[in-house]
Amino acid sequence: MSEEQKEEKESLNLFLSTQTVIKEALDKLGYSNSVYELLKEPIRMLKVRIPIKMDDGSVKVFTGFRSQHNDAVGPAKGGVRFHPEVSEEEVKALSIWMSLKCGIADLPYGGGKGGIICDPREMSFGELERLSRGYVRAISQIVGPAKDIPAPDVYTNSQIMAWMMDEYSRLREFDSPGFITGKPLVLGGSQGRETATARGVTICVEEAAKAKGIDIQGARVIVQGFGNAGSYLAKFMKEAGALVVGISDAHGALYDPNGLDIDYLLERRDSFGTVTNLFKNIITNKELLEQECDILVPAAISNQITADNAHQIKASIVVEAANGPTTLEATKILTERGVLLVPDILASAGGVTVSYFEWVQNNQGYYWSEEEVAQKLQKVMVDSFKNIYQTSQGHQVDMRLAAYMVGIRKAAEASRFRGWV
Ligand code: GLU
Repeated sequence: MSEEQKEEKESLNLFLSTQTVIKEALDKLGYSNSVYELLKEPIRMLKVRIPIKMDDGSVKVFTGFRSQHNDAVGPAKGGVRFHPEVSEEEVKALSIWMSLKCGIADLPYGGGKGGIICDPREMSFGELERLSRGYVRAISQIVGPAKDIPAPDVYTNSQIMAWMMDEYSRLREFDSPGFITGKPLVLGGSQGRETATARGVTICVEEAAKAKGIDIQGARVIVQGFGNAGSYLAKFMKEAGALVVGISDAHGALYDPNGLDIDYLLERRDSFGTVTNLFKNIITNKELLEQECDILVPAAISNQITADNAHQIKASIVVEAANGPTTLEATKILTERGVLLVPDILASAGGVTVSYFEWVQNNQGYYWSEEEVAQKLQKVMVDSFKNIYQTSQGHQVDMRLAAYMVGIRKAAEASRFRGWV
């Protein structure tokens, strides 16, 4: 099977397994099959072709997507990823996940997600700007501050959000900071947005440790991935008194039972999160997952913990900071082994939560301090964790199914009240 076919299959699996758990969750909650029929697919999926003048004078036509899962609760919300392997199936599945995340954090949104098939690592600044603006022009009819609000995701950042906001504002002929979140502070971004996902994961790690009776002080933590989420997380874990014994990037992993020098690693990482290339004694990502630790945080890519290695995981807590790092089979194995697994749609909800705060600040034109944002985020994450933990205990289901139950309830209920189902 070629790499491309493999990617396609993985995206399809991601989509199908999402549908499986949604069905299970709706059944547990007692909803009829028509509710599942509505929520198993996005209500809207736009595919666009974007012609861009490249620096060498040639024209390249890029393919982009925007998927809106459900807008019964409120406007759609979710990031835009720039990646060579992004596909329609993946964007669809991720838009459903955004509905779940918004439901879990109790935000007044439905889920959305966008993507462009491109490799930003091989594009110039000018090409990226033209592509970002071209994407907004292509999807402008279905997005807007009260329709669908994009945000950063894999390989997109605040600069890209700034170009997109500027393009949208020019099209509409009025300044529209609420069109997009994750903007630079001077353009209406929120304090604390950049570190929000990692903060949210940190709060989940702390809550999970409490539930398991593990003291964070001195707890051994492995973080797989050193991108935006992974690197800040390693920093916050260290600040909380934990011992970060392992980290990794796309090229390999570092493990030291006595703890790694996180400050040094943070200083030396490049903007794509690469740092292990500076070292000789590296191990593989796969080996890292099986090393001794108390808490394991997969913060890189999907399908890392599978039926093949779930028995070898030593951690008693796994917190999923990445999207879909654990397969459904592996979830079952870990749960049976007594490992507390905090699912991705809960652990990574901090990003969209602070995006919501950013949108609220834009709408009211009044801005909050970093402490205010941190306090509000803390409350949302702790409440969400407790709600899902209690649902899991009360219904005797694993944390993933509990998270789906909590996450899908609002979309189901709102669709029912609107008379759609
Ligand atoms: N892309 C992030 C996520 O998947 C953030 C989305 C947002 O801020 O709207 O949760």
